[in-house]
Amino acid sequence: MARIIDGRAIAEGVYGQLRGEIAELKARGITPGLAVVLVGDDQASRAYVRSKDKMCRELGLHSVKLELPANTTQEELLARVDELNRDNAVHGILVQSPPPKQIDEAAIIRALDPGKDVDGFHPLNVAKLALGDDSGFVPCTPLGCQRLLVEARIDIDGAHVVVLGRSMIVGKPVALLLMQKARHANATVTVVHSRSRNLQEITRSADIIIAGIGQAHFVKAGHVRDGAVVIDVGINRVDDASVPRGSRLVGDVAFDEVAQKASAITPVPGGVGPMTIAMLMANTVKACRQAAR
Ligand code: NDP
Repeated sequence: MARIIDGRAIAEGVYGQLRGEIAELKARGITPGLAVVLVGDDQASRAYVRSKDKMCRELGLHSVKLELPANTTQEELLARVDELNRDNAVHGILVQSPPPKQIDEAAIIRALDPGKDVDGFHPLNVAKLALGDDSGFVPCTPLGCQRLLVEARIDIDGAHVVVLGRSMIVGKPVALLLMQKARHANATVTVVHSRSRNLQEITRSADIIIAGIGQAHFVKAGHVRDGAVVIDVGINRVDDASVPRGSRLVGDVAFDEVAQKASAITPVPGGVGPMTIAMLMANTVKACRQAAR
């Protein structure tokens, strides 16, 4: 049976470190600030924004929660982003995805001050990740996956990491991050996606599998070799009549069967999810430190 990599406990450790850094900044009269912009009333987005705001408050960060109506125009949103770019009390800005249809999300991301882009989606930060320039911001979920591996003492150096999914939020940045010629990286990375041939053969050769495809229970025992490490990024809602809500969240990995073969595995919930928010807080503190230089 695999060792469970406890994302909540590891996130708590991250917060412990961050509290120290925040105290040092405050002693210099600087409070890191994060602005989260929500356009519209998508319930899942609302819940994410609430938990980000709550975590900021728990850490003593300056938190700006901007809730804009669903009919906000591109120009209005750009104007708010511009205000936040110029606000010295705000070191990190995040526009919650997905915005309503009338919003051109890529243009909004390009309008962010790259030094405040704590989600790491601005083209300049994507380029810095590709270049291995650590002054940039790495997207929070990939950063959280790496941190989980490091804190769980999984050796990434030289390991074959197979990433399932190639999105700009998960797959592509986690591949770039772990293949870097750097500490906590140096992996041999293979990325598979919906067009990959022989996917199962490839995942079976992995020392570490990172699954981020948004398909409930896709990764089965047959995809995993004995002793592999499995990081499950997926968050999928499935029907379950046995729980009061009628549904529950599951990952991209068939946890019960894969845990029989893996040496270590992250659960859903309680794995990558808590780390994503912890890395958002870490990126905000980094943005503040860089601005304070
Ligand atoms: P996207 O839909 O943007 O990307 C999914 C990727 O998976 C695509 O590259 C797609 O391939 C690939 N894919 C889909 N189906 C298959 C399949 N059957 N076989 C192989 N590859 C497949 O999703 P995201 O990257 O945004 O999110 C992925 C998952 O991670 C979701 O469940 C999401 O909820 C979760 N997530 C979790 C976070 C967390 O904090 N824990 C944060 C962000 C996301 P192709 O490119 O060919 O279409």
